Amino acid sequence: MRTFDIVIVGAGHAGAQAAIALRQRKFEGTIALIGDEPDLPYERPPLSKEYLSQDKPFERILLRPATFWAEKQVEIISSTRIVTVDAAAHRVTSATGEMIGYGTLIWATGGSPRRLTCAGHDLAGVHAVRTRADVDRLMGELPATTRVVVIGGGYIGLEAAAVLTKLGKQVTLLEALPRVLARVAGEPLSRFYEAEHRAHGVDVRLETQVECIVGEGGRVTGVRLADGEVVPGEMVIVGIGIIPAVEPLLAAGATGGNGVAVDALCHTSLPDVFAIGDCALHESAFAAGASIRLESVQNANDQAATVAKALTGVEEPYAAVPWFWSNQYDLKLQTVGLSTGHDRAVLRGDLATRSFSLVYLKDGRVIALDCVNATKDYVQGRALVAGGATIAPERLADAAVPLKEMAA
Ligand code: FAD
Repeated sequence: MRTFDIVIVGAGHAGAQAAIALRQRKFEGTIALIGDEPDLPYERPPLSKEYLSQDKPFERILLRPATFWAEKQVEIISSTRIVTVDAAAHRVTSATGEMIGYGTLIWATGGSPRRLTCAGHDLAGVHAVRTRADVDRLMGELPATTRVVVIGGGYIGLEAAAVLTKLGKQVTLLEALPRVLARVAGEPLSRFYEAEHRAHGVDVRLETQVECIVGEGGRVTGVRLADGEVVPGEMVIVGIGIIPAVEPLLAAGATGGNGVAVDALCHTSLPDVFAIGDCALHESAFAAGASIRLESVQNANDQAATVAKALTGVEEPYAAVPWFWSNQYDLKLQTVGLSTGHDRAVLRGDLATRSFSLVYLKDGRVIALDCVNATKDYVQGRALVAGGATIAPERLADAAVPLKEMAA
């Protein structure tokens, strides 16, 4: 049995960054980075942006070149799925039965795309957008595709719709809720993006329930809605969230449910086992102390840094301000903080100029900003979120005054 001082399971953003940060912090022990994908660690955000639009080849979205991992003596074990964890024996077992021992385990497995369960969900032409393989499959089918139905009006569905429209496809976007981005943004932002997509030719349908996927000869031909209408499409993209990949850890006795529960140092309830990234359920001061999972590169990288520090003698609780971005058409959205639970949203600027910010308040305090083509607000708003600034809504609404001048 091979044994490493640190075994990282999941070679995505969080796992790769943990290995990088450990070496940056001069950790000299052995490190294995085990992932079930065949590729070296790569950036996931471009999968629904520049990689899908073919503006960036795969080599340009690698997190680090192959030489880096060799130089840093990080053993990359790819195409290897870990299926069990034995916390007492300090070892993991792969799907092929290989056992690998660890001193410390870092669980960084992200999640798998939530799938539809209705009839036809497994027809050829129905795609998720989570891995390079998903997107390569989808791209391979694009030449024979005229009409695409996107199910889910979250960031990934909207980004895919934007790229595919630009590629000349006829896109219908189906959202079950009354507005897109309903879980993550205030209503003005949702309405803005709905209007933008419609202006670019996307048929955005809200409050629309999917009955099933229909097909012929094993291939999708459309999506049947609850009212009986069939929206035709040679391709269906499903972007309805992820299920955290934590089964092996929970089976080993770790506390959790929708993710694996971690403390402020990203330690799970199992000895010498940490969890980071999309799969880590943590209490967040930016969510009023609620236990949440954050699905963002920021969270993956910052939790990786927290663990790397903890393992090299610096116990610094995870308290990073959440941030996120999304690119659709020529719109660059940058968000800071978490808007969930806001009781007021203040608009800075004019939606019609396509450069504005929404500032979210709770009990008079700034808790988040969504900035569209407004990088200055994003950069300056960060301090307001970090400090929970109290600023009168009328002042925040005055786009002529920079946010940094409003900080107390
Ligand atoms: P992942 O990057 O998903 O890595 C987990 C890895 O573990 C995967 O390779 C997985 O296959 C592997 N794995 C799972 N289970 C096992 C197992 N049992 N054994 C071995 N390996 C396993 N975030 C932003 O901040 N901005 C964006 O614009 C943005 N856009 C996105 C667009 C797309 C299409 C997607 C899919 C995500 C996007 N995100 C974005 C989210 C961001 O990519 C994730 O939050 C980030 O990748 C999380 O990192 P992670 O390491 O936790 O998970």
